[in-house]
Amino acid sequence: MNKIDELAQAFTYLAELLEIKGEVRFKVNAYERAAELIRAIGDEIFEKDNVKELRQFPGIGEGIAKKILEFKETGTISKLEELKTEVPIALISLLQVPNLGPKRAKLIYEELGVQNIDELREAAETGKLAELRGLGPKAEQNILEGIDHIENISGRMLLHKAYEIQRDICSLMSEALPGLLINPAGSLRRMKETIGDIDLLVGCENSRLVMETFLSLPITRRVIAKGDTKSSIMTAAGLQVDLRVVKPEQYGAALQYFTGSQAHNIRVREIARKSGLKVNEYGVFTVKDNRCIAAEDEAGVYAALDMAFPKPEMRENQGEIEAAIEDRLPALLELADIKGDLHSHSDWSDGRDDLEGMRAAAEARGYRYLAITDHAMKLKIAGGLERERLIEQVHAIRELNARGDSPVVLLTGSELNIDNDGDVDYDEELLSLLDVTIASIHGGLRQPREKITKRIIKAIRNPDVKIIGHPTGRLIGQRAPYDIDLRAIMRAAAETGTALELNSFPDRLDLKDENLRQARDLGAKVSLGTDSHRSNQLEFMFYGVAMARRAWLEIDDVLNTMGLDGLLEWLWAGRKKA
Ligand SMILES: [Zn+2]
Ligand SMILES: [Zn+2]
Repeated sequence: MNKIDELAQAFTYLAELLEIKGEVRFKVNAYERAAELIRAIGDEIFEKDNVKELRQFPGIGEGIAKKILEFKETGTISKLEELKTEVPIALISLLQVPNLGPKRAKLIYEELGVQNIDELREAAETGKLAELRGLGPKAEQNILEGIDHIENISGRMLLHKAYEIQRDICSLMSEALPGLLINPAGSLRRMKETIGDIDLLVGCENSRLVMETFLSLPITRRVIAKGDTKSSIMTAAGLQVDLRVVKPEQYGAALQYFTGSQAHNIRVREIARKSGLKVNEYGVFTVKDNRCIAAEDEAGVYAALDMAFPKPEMRENQGEIEAAIEDRLPALLELADIKGDLHSHSDWSDGRDDLEGMRAAAEARGYRYLAITDHAMKLKIAGGLERERLIEQVHAIRELNARGDSPVVLLTGSELNIDNDGDVDYDEELLSLLDVTIASIHGGLRQPREKITKRIIKAIRNPDVKIIGHPTGRLIGQRAPYDIDLRAIMRAAAETGTALELNSFPDRLDLKDENLRQARDLGAKVSLGTDSHRSNQLEFMFYGVAMARRAWLEIDDVLNTMGLDGLLEWLWAGRKKA
């Protein structure tokens, strides 16, 4: 976990412990919100040296600023340490489990005397949790999933971190050895949302030279293993990178083999066997006389098996084998298909950059449009825009657009809050000024399933809401999704023509790949937005597109592949425009 995650985690912890102690709701909320803000701001928060500077971030008040400084100096927050001594350690350990929440943790601890996660699992598996008042079998199942979740995530890192390190290493290696054949393999090449170790594959005759270069990279902290064809290092950031060298003429076969997934490769080998062939990391061979018929290039491996080439993101044995055999693989969404970003924050609410800065970054990406969707009124703590401020912003955006000095058109918008009754901020008149209306849940995250589902569906049925933001609310490895009936939400969205967001902020990736595919199958449109809080975060679109590709999405499944005119027509369909 990096420093920012640790800091954010400390605030989440504060909120949970206060809730267990029965603290008033608004204090709990303030710390929950602080955790989110810290994640959105990122490392910059540690560049500030005093309360005054920190308070310049919208939403950071004095109390929170002081705690941030304290954390910076001491690595912890005394209030948190204090609370930890007041709350039983068993309860603290239970809090790690997503889907559990402080109230339930307390109940389970008090009623069943559960002391740790192993005992919690046991209680769930023997049906003891379901018997507790207010829990039931569904909650028990959720808690079990939560336990699986923490056990799966530990020792893994978010995709974007792994991807960036891989990119750095590949470019350093290519600088040292121009023209080097090098690629990521494994789950990183398949762009899974979290990655264990980083696997790299090189094709080169001179493996000694490759290894020397690799082991002396400045990024290396420690050499874990050193061999002729495979070596492993630990990076300064504490991540393991394995690099393997194969002969260039076998590179395609090796890349296919080491990309996986295992389930995909098992199927590939079955297909081969039926044609009297065998496939391994060295090539495709005839069983009869062990003759190599493909090895150098990866597409050639599939072609030798009479298969079309499935993109790495698809190789999870989710139907891609059959589709490749029948030559009906989808034309996956490409980053270049994205015409603009539909979710961003500026310095009008809790973002860092001004409208022009955001627009310049969109222009640098070759976009045609960028939606400015600052927080709405009711999210005061994130600098949500009061009525008058929003009108002012709409005018500022129109003025900028009218100057005509950029190919990028800024779209007016708002990230509205779905309140406890499923209503959103602002009146109809004000909404009629906004091109892009996202509605998200920012409070009441732990309400019962029926209640949250109902709130979201009511927002979907609101004609002035066109996109549902981060629909499940998960933070990968840190917060489980809300307990909602996603299928019902997807059906409602398909029915009303409301888009569901693929929030491409790396900690969120929400909806996730399998849900995206479900949404598409049920006929709901998907909207890609980065939720940028600074201009350079527009680059997170890359990871959103990767998730979309894992979900087999094509250009027509995605809202912001439309040109400007088409998009505006879609956004205003069935709404009153001022
Ligand atoms: Zn949001
Ligand atoms: Zn947002």
